[in-house]
Amino acid sequence: MLQKLGLITFIAAFGLFLGTLSMNNYTLTNEVLEKNLKDEALFDAKIEFASIIDQPYTNSFAFASEVSKGIEALNKVYNAQQAWDKKIYEDTIVSIIKASSNGYLSDNKSLILFLTFGLSIIGALLYFLPSIKQEAGIKNNGIFFNPATNRKWLGMLIGTFLILFYIALYFKPQYIANWIMVVDPVSKFINGGEASRWFMYGFLYTISVLVMGIRYIIKYRHSKYQIIRTLSIIFFQTCIAFILPEIMSNLNLPSADLKNMWPLDYSFFFNYRIDKLITGGTFGIFLLVWGIVLFVVGVPVMTYFFGKRWYCSWVCGCGGLAETLGDPFRQLSDKSTKAWKIERYLIHGILAFAIIMTIGVLYTYFTGSYNLLGFIPTEWLKSTYGFMIGSIFSGVVGTGFYPLMGSRVWCRFGCPLAAYLGIIQRFKSRFRITTNGGQCISCGNCSTYCEMGIDVRAYAQKGQDIVRSSCVGCGVCSAVCPRGVLNLENAETGTRIMLAPEVLLGNLMEK
Ligand code: SF4
Ligand code: SF4
Repeated sequence: MLQKLGLITFIAAFGLFLGTLSMNNYTLTNEVLEKNLKDEALFDAKIEFASIIDQPYTNSFAFASEVSKGIEALNKVYNAQQAWDKKIYEDTIVSIIKASSNGYLSDNKSLILFLTFGLSIIGALLYFLPSIKQEAGIKNNGIFFNPATNRKWLGMLIGTFLILFYIALYFKPQYIANWIMVVDPVSKFINGGEASRWFMYGFLYTISVLVMGIRYIIKYRHSKYQIIRTLSIIFFQTCIAFILPEIMSNLNLPSADLKNMWPLDYSFFFNYRIDKLITGGTFGIFLLVWGIVLFVVGVPVMTYFFGKRWYCSWVCGCGGLAETLGDPFRQLSDKSTKAWKIERYLIHGILAFAIIMTIGVLYTYFTGSYNLLGFIPTEWLKSTYGFMIGSIFSGVVGTGFYPLMGSRVWCRFGCPLAAYLGIIQRFKSRFRITTNGGQCISCGNCSTYCEMGIDVRAYAQKGQDIVRSSCVGCGVCSAVCPRGVLNLENAETGTRIMLAPEVLLGNLMEK
């Protein structure tokens, strides 16, 4: 009963959230242009938009498309003139649309925030909380018959929504300006200003990790490892990734997500970011040094002691979303050796691309030359990486494909930091999953629920330690094993069993 109520509340709140896209009217005025454009472009914009100034619009898509068309025309001219200081970017278009809005949403943002986000959270919690009465752990209760979790119509629908959402967020945020407006009250409360698309995304992301994190803790409450790990993910997402950067910018300090590092944070060495940090005083220099120390010293040392799990399953935001929002889809990861092969080529290829791109960017920064080795344009490297990997792969595919390819598509096939961590984990780490082969009943739970597509059972049956570069140490294989076969351990590197041709039985295991 409670679950039904929760589901209905969630669907109604989500429907209203979608409906907010058509909840306003719009009028572009000269004051709006003056407020949002710099002098260089303002004059041109007033001429370009002369025909729609003071014209009321009732359709948000028509208005957003009209404004975008005008801005595109202006940008085309500025590109041809190489007048980069005049160029108008997506975030400015969003601000123009928000400032042109009037109507029910604009007048009742707090109410709409409660009716959409507030009720979605309440509905989701009402849906998840009753499962605390059920036995903890995995149930295998029709997961491959559920249309949401077996690539059927509901999964396709969720995937399509996520893909479209990411495309709009990265490339056409003007069409979702009303969704951004809904979280204005939260933004005003935290930083005193209106919400940007990245604030809205950060808020949505944090809420998803929080709510789905509660679901995850209820589900795996029999495992202390899973409880503490999920609390860690929630803490890093909420406090370090979402709130702390807002506080930093409130204090007029350079802001940064302290746990995000190169090469995942691929723009860390871009000229505008280095300049901002260098000119940001002592705190800016601290952030620059912190960012470098983290990947040069932090990654090898921590991965040596704990494996890549210290980052991928305890700290990282991408991993955090995959573990919480993506948990219902973890069984969809491809376990075939073909997928394993593609994974190795792709992820290490992207790491190589990130390194070359960064060398190019730094080369340009220090020499002023725009061509690496005299013929590779660094701007091209930057924009290609940003578009293909930073936006399409990590966002659109990375999350949009949860219901199609499992929860760790990005971490498994695309993340350059995961590749770097994985190389250390594979060759120089104390981490391994030990397997007590004699106890294995070949139920296959471990392989089914491994989000990284590792055929855990095959190792368990051979009594072989799992020493795989891709293992993120989520511990779910161990949590779902009915026989206690699998243990996540840290011990001397030389004691890892890399090859075990025979089945090793319990206490007879020799290491
Ligand atoms: S092998 Fe186990 S710990 Fe490693 S990623 Fe798979 S489920 Fe997680
Ligand atoms: S290791 Fe555990 S979960 Fe995996 S097949 Fe064996 S008994 Fe099942």
